[in-house]
Amino acid sequence: MIEEGTLVFPGDKVATAEELLPGAGTADVNGTIVGTVMGTFMVNKKNSQAEVTPLTSTPVVLHPGDTVICEVKHVMDKLVLVDVLHVAGKHRHITGDKDAAIPVPDIAKAYVTSAKDKFKIGDMVRATVTQAGANIRLSTAGKNLGVIKSYCTQCRAELEVARDKKAELECPRCGSLEERHIAADYGEGNLDWK
Ligand SMILES: [Zn+2]
Repeated sequence: MIEEGTLVFPGDKVATAEELLPGAGTADVNGTIVGTVMGTFMVNKKNSQAEVTPLTSTPVVLHPGDTVICEVKHVMDKLVLVDVLHVAGKHRHITGDKDAAIPVPDIAKAYVTSAKDKFKIGDMVRATVTQAGANIRLSTAGKNLGVIKSYCTQCRAELEVARDKKAELECPRCGSLEERHIAADYGEGNLDWK
């Protein structure tokens, strides 16, 4: 079982069927209890049920320095366009303008030729806000910033950190090796770090 209060995405494992029954916002998939909505994992102790409480729609205003979780929508050579989903540590959705951009110089401390080498559509990314307001700008140049969850471009399985360092990530299903700009804690499950 994962820690209560952890932010989970749909499909994330929260417990085994031996530990808990599936409750609101969760489902039993072949003996694994997984979240079916994005939200906060809780245990209903009375019923021994796993529950995921969806993020509420209370508006959150972004400020420079905030840590956000976002999903990659489009990748160009010089710019990554993302949808900001969540401010780390605040269990709320973002409302209003939530499109944001990561300019290529702000992807990493090292020089990046093309953003296409570092991000793919659908990647979940942890970033910091460098500019708020009408044009939201983000940076992933930091140890715990970058891709925190991503899927194989060949078969869509969730990628894991590669065992040999030929690439950053590898697919446990088809063996595809993939490059991303990953956060230092990729795969550790603590998505709501701040
Ligand atoms: Zn694969």
